[in-house]
Amino acid sequence: MADPRIDPTVPPSGDGCVECLASGGWWFHLRRCARCGHIGCCDSSPSQHASAHAKASGHSVIRSFEPGEDWFYDYETDEGMEGPALAPPEHHPLKQPTPGPAGKVPRDWQRYLH
Ligand SMILES: [Zn+2]
Ligand SMILES: [Zn+2]
Repeated sequence: MADPRIDPTVPPSGDGCVECLASGGWWFHLRRCARCGHIGCCDSSPSQHASAHAKASGHSVIRSFEPGEDWFYDYETDEGMEGPALAPPEHHPLKQPTPGPAGKVPRDWQRYLH
């Protein structure tokens, strides 16, 4: 039976963190909700929108949205896990900088990481 925490048919919500893009913020790394495709920023980022989305929605599983990374993680069990291939694209555009997005990241960004 398919894992109810994961819907591999849903594409990602966009190229970057939904809430950061809406508010003019920036992120370090990006995480994709494995259930609804919401793109949020990681727990090292200033605003930690991926874990906020997991809490608010009950969607506990994320997958990395970074190029070359295909790991999954469950906030509820606090463990990494295996998962299926998800609807493309499987990572943010390669031309998009890390941290990102371009033009929003302060020069001393490392000071703001968690
Ligand atoms: Zn964010
Ligand atoms: Zn979700």
